[in-house]
Amino acid sequence: MEKPKRAQRPHCLVLPHPIQGHINPMLQFSKRLEHKGVKVTLAITQFIFNNTMNGTSSSSISVETISDGYDQGGPEAASGGYEEYLPRFREVGSKTLAGLVVKFGNMGCPVDCIVYDAFLPWGLDVAREFGLVGAVFFTQSCAVDNIYYHVYNGHLKLPLTERTNITVPGLPPLEISDMPSFVSVPQAYPPLLKLVVNQFANVGEADWVLCNTFHKLEEELVDWMAKIWPLRTIGPTIPSMYLDKRLQDDKEYGFSIFKPKTDACMKWLDQRSNGSVVYVSFGSLAQLGVDQMEEIAWGLKNSNYYFLWVVRATEQPKLPKNFMAETVLNGLVVTWCPQLDVLAHRAIGCFVTHSGWNSTLEALSLGVPMVAMPQSTDQTTNAKYVMDVWGMGVRAQCDERGMVRREEVEGCVREVMEGERGKEIRRKEMKWGELAIEAVDEGGSSDKNIDEFVAKLVKS
Ligand code: UDP
Repeated sequence: MEKPKRAQRPHCLVLPHPIQGHINPMLQFSKRLEHKGVKVTLAITQFIFNNTMNGTSSSSISVETISDGYDQGGPEAASGGYEEYLPRFREVGSKTLAGLVVKFGNMGCPVDCIVYDAFLPWGLDVAREFGLVGAVFFTQSCAVDNIYYHVYNGHLKLPLTERTNITVPGLPPLEISDMPSFVSVPQAYPPLLKLVVNQFANVGEADWVLCNTFHKLEEELVDWMAKIWPLRTIGPTIPSMYLDKRLQDDKEYGFSIFKPKTDACMKWLDQRSNGSVVYVSFGSLAQLGVDQMEEIAWGLKNSNYYFLWVVRATEQPKLPKNFMAETVLNGLVVTWCPQLDVLAHRAIGCFVTHSGWNSTLEALSLGVPMVAMPQSTDQTTNAKYVMDVWGMGVRAQCDERGMVRREEVEGCVREVMEGERGKEIRRKEMKWGELAIEAVDEGGSSDKNIDEFVAKLVKS
């Protein structure tokens, strides 16, 4: 679409929750907005800013800092955990975000709109204080959002029991084990249950409800939710060069909290033949038990395939002692990798993953079959969809103690890497990959939605 014809470009302040899995999609959406002529400033916490400087930050988007009240240590520094962190973030974050709005006004570069993470509903209060457009951004799937909404509106009463008939509009029949962990085990971490349910407290007042998914992926759900709110799908938020290739310099997220071992990974992969490597990652937050780590380790070894395994530095002490030495010929363990480059590499045959939403969208867009091993939060629901709705992979089954055993790891890897099931999954993934490109390419459903959002901003 044509760039806006007015003296000044509209200006959006984009506010992600300060974790990698929320920064990545909101940053990518920012790049799409900039490409369409909007000025964007990403507001991140001082703590993340300091940390990212230790990692990589090469994105084209301007960055400004706000405070969550814990500039030196982030959420980990809150002695009372998230119960203490979230209210303080709300209090200090609102003030410092408002300070940014004032600062831009004084600079002659006023803010027109705040795009705020649904985890931070106070972003809308700041927008209203200054009479700005308020757009809430959901980084997770519509299926998961819809479940949380039905907990919020009382349709799903917690705790769920075996007798609860779990029926949510637009969703297939679900077992308790398919529900997000905050819903299936509500007593486990009440502050986080409150956080995800409270996303809906003021959603009805937002001018826009933006979702990181695409229409054909969650058609029925999107259509159902769009009847209640001004909901628009804008995803998948994967760098353009992996999808429509219209944003020439958009090859990576460019904002990494951990430093990727890029050379080591890519050189190692270059030496492997097509589809011969199992890529394993549980994302930026998951903490596996020592026993679970051991089962995965020996399951990978026993599968006899090459593997590239991301084990964050804080998780590495959990690896079995002799594991690295025993697998040195077959495996590479790194603390962080450039995941998109890895998934796009011809050597990768499957992705053993916690099925975080970004990882799921990345696998889908790049056509990599998944072995879903969900750990917590929305990953369980994503895994259900991956296997039973989208046919993108298999879900590893837990034993009665909630553990995925080494035989199961090995069996799932073999099922996806070889045999008919693997072929069928690859066919489905190809289809999803094409639909993902179609959605963000010129005239696609997500592209049109972003155009509409920009056009309204220009008018207002
Ligand atoms: N990621 C990465 N390198 C790694 C592991 C993960 O760049 O070694 C990225 C991945 O591409 C994704 C994000 O980190 O964009 C993880 O998000 P996801 O929603 O999958 O999981 P979370 O970390 O939020 O649990």
